[in-house]
Amino acid sequence: MCYTVVMKILTELQIENAVYEIAKKMCFEVDEKTLKKISDAYEKEDNRATKDALSDIIVNAKIAKNEHIPLCQDTGIVIAFCEIGGQIVIDGSFEKAINSGIKRAYSTEYLRKSVVKSPLDRVNTNDNTPCIIHTTITDGDKLKITLCPKGAGSENMGRVKMLTPASGEDGIIDFVVETVRLAGGKACPPLIVGVGIGGDLEECALLSKRALLRDIDDCSKDTHAKRLEDILYEKINALNIGAMGLKGKTTCLAVKVETFPCHIASLPVAVSLMCHANRHATCEL
Ligand code: SF4
Repeated sequence: MCYTVVMKILTELQIENAVYEIAKKMCFEVDEKTLKKISDAYEKEDNRATKDALSDIIVNAKIAKNEHIPLCQDTGIVIAFCEIGGQIVIDGSFEKAINSGIKRAYSTEYLRKSVVKSPLDRVNTNDNTPCIIHTTITDGDKLKITLCPKGAGSENMGRVKMLTPASGEDGIIDFVVETVRLAGGKACPPLIVGVGIGGDLEECALLSKRALLRDIDDCSKDTHAKRLEDILYEKINALNIGAMGLKGKTTCLAVKVETFPCHIASLPVAVSLMCHANRHATCEL
C-alpha cells in the first residue's frame, strides 16, 4: 500500500515567538467570564469587608489590563499544556522554544522571576525558567499551547490522597472540602477548584490541574462527575471562607471534576486550587 503523509514543519523560533506573545499578556488579564462571576459574587455578598475585597479584585483587574500592570506580584511558575498534532515536525528543540519564549516575556515585561534552580539550594534562575511542560500527541497538524502561571499561594494548598474504593463518594467529597477549608484565605479565594479522580498518584494530580483550564462556565459532560461538581460547589461555598478569607457567600466560583480509569483497588483524588487571578493564555500554530 502506498500513501502520502503531509507533514507541517514548525521551527523553534516560530514556537518561541508564539509563546512569547501569549506569555506577554497572561499576567495582565483575567478572562471576562471569570470577572463576571466575581461581579456576581460582589452583588450577592452582604458582608461589608468581603464586598470591599471583591470590589478591589475587580478594580485591580481593570487597572492591570488598562495600565499593563501585573494582576499580582506573584507571576508564578509557568505550566505549559501542549497538544502536538501527529503531523507536526518540530525543527529544533520544543523544550528550548517554550522556555525561550517565557524567558523573553518575563524579561521584557519586568515580571517577577519566581523559579529556583533546585528546591534544596534555593538559588533563583533569574529568568523564570524552566517551566513545567506537559505534552499530549493529538491527531492532525495543529500545535496548541496553553500557559498557566501558577502562584505559590494557591499551588501550595493543593493536595493528593490515595483513597481506597471503600471511601466512596463521601470520602472524595470530605477530602475536597477539607482541602479548601485548610486553605482558608491563603489560596486567595474566590477559587476555581480542580478535582482529579482516578488514574494513579501523578495522573490524578495532572487531571486536577488540567481541570482548571476548562471554561469557567462549563460543566462536566459525565453525569456522575457533574453531580459531584454541583455537590462540591454547594458544600465549599457553605464553608463561609469568602473572598480573601474574610467570610462570605462565595468561596469558590466553580468546581471542575475530571476522571480517569484506575486500578480496582485504588481511588486516587487530587485537588488543585486556582486563585481569583485566574490566569491562562492559549495559542495555536
Ligand atoms: S494565590 Fe494568586 S492572587 Fe494570591 S498571591 Fe498567589 S498569584 Fe497572587
